[in-house]
Amino acid sequence: MKIVIAGAGQAAASLAARLRALDANVEIVVIGEEPVAPYQRPPLSKGYLLGEMPLDRLTLRADEWWQENRIELRKAERVLAIDPSAREIETTRGRERYDALALTLGAAARRLPAAMGGEREGVHVVRSLADIDALAPELRPGRRLVVVGGGYIGLEAAAVARKLGLEVTVVEAGPRILGRVASEPMADRIRALQQGHGVDIVELAGVSELAGAARVEAVHLTDGRELPCDLAICGIGVLPETALAGEAGLALDNGIAVDAFGRTSDPAIWAAGDCASFPHEGRRLRLESVGNAIDMAEAVAANILGAGKPYIPRPWFWSDQFDAKLQIAGLATGADHEVVREGEGGHGASVWSFAGPRLLCVEALNDARAYMVGKRLIDAGRSADPAAVADPATDLKALMR
Ligand code: NAP
Repeated sequence: MKIVIAGAGQAAASLAARLRALDANVEIVVIGEEPVAPYQRPPLSKGYLLGEMPLDRLTLRADEWWQENRIELRKAERVLAIDPSAREIETTRGRERYDALALTLGAAARRLPAAMGGEREGVHVVRSLADIDALAPELRPGRRLVVVGGGYIGLEAAAVARKLGLEVTVVEAGPRILGRVASEPMADRIRALQQGHGVDIVELAGVSELAGAARVEAVHLTDGRELPCDLAICGIGVLPETALAGEAGLALDNGIAVDAFGRTSDPAIWAAGDCASFPHEGRRLRLESVGNAIDMAEAVAANILGAGKPYIPRPWFWSDQFDAKLQIAGLATGADHEVVREGEGGHGASVWSFAGPRLLCVEALNDARAYMVGKRLIDAGRSADPAAVADPATDLKALMR
């Protein structure tokens, strides 16, 4: 049996490793567009951008590992088309036959359109190693940076740039930062953290243009304000890579649509990670996180080999900004109330989100204990009494009994 994995990021590396662990004989080919072996993305906007983490520590598996495990890793090769009826793909180097094809194509950073100046010199995105290698030399003390988008990418990049001595303004189109990905009480704390370190945060402000001659010189806001700058970063979200799947006639639905086992609408084609949307609790979910890339890829690897086990996500996320660590377990979608718990000894805090009696999500800022307890409860499908959570006298571990 020959399994071809298209895309060579975290999901591809996890899928290939699990396939090999489960079956010593299947032929495995991984095809990736980038010139380097699969690497970890989370440190790109943190340690790697700051210059504290070298490339060899980003790489997920050394070259020898791929050889020892008899996985053919093909770099700098782009998949151009899928031919499901022939069970072949076409790449920049020729055609490749498969018995099973796994799409781990990830997502691409959204950019502002060229008509808005999105392609001017000095406008960066933060997604790939090449993006960071282009951005890092631009982060010089005293320069003025405008970050468009107050999500994790924007805020993490803002923190690094501030540490490196730049003047930083974050512009968020929505009513508040982290609108899609964190509760309001937690966003309030992150805003205070960023402002405490001298980052300017402008919310409810649309961008009309990244203006300048060849190079960006100012960010114009829809309310008429102008923010002069030396460079800009767009952290305005990602778009799942669906073009190949769509052209091959596979079903799409906010990503490449798969069933509970990770199988697409073609029985020989599977998908995992940022590019894939899967059924979960009566709706379709697409998770953009390294935790999902790993867990879903491992589940799909087993299912390609016939395990027949549905993928059940256990969402978790984290973000490092300045000296603060935010850890999140669960998903807050559908929450109808929140409880804020101050951390022990005045350190840290956590926000617990509920839908009725059900605990959905715990966001912990500098509070590893709250994260751990919350994650265990959520993973086990258990809840906690909101009043007990809010009472600082409650021993967190007692919530697990
Ligand atoms: P994101 O979470 O979608 O945040 C993008 C933010 O930009 C949103 O708040 C969005 O607001 C705002 N925005 C969109 N268009 C805008 C515009 N024209 N002007 C101003 N603001 C605008 O995406 P991201 O921060 O770019 O992150 C990209 C991906 O990397 C995500 O998948 C993220 O989860 C992942 N990531 C994860 C971590 C982590 O877990 N620590 C860290 C970094 C990145 P609206 O929602 O109102 O449109």
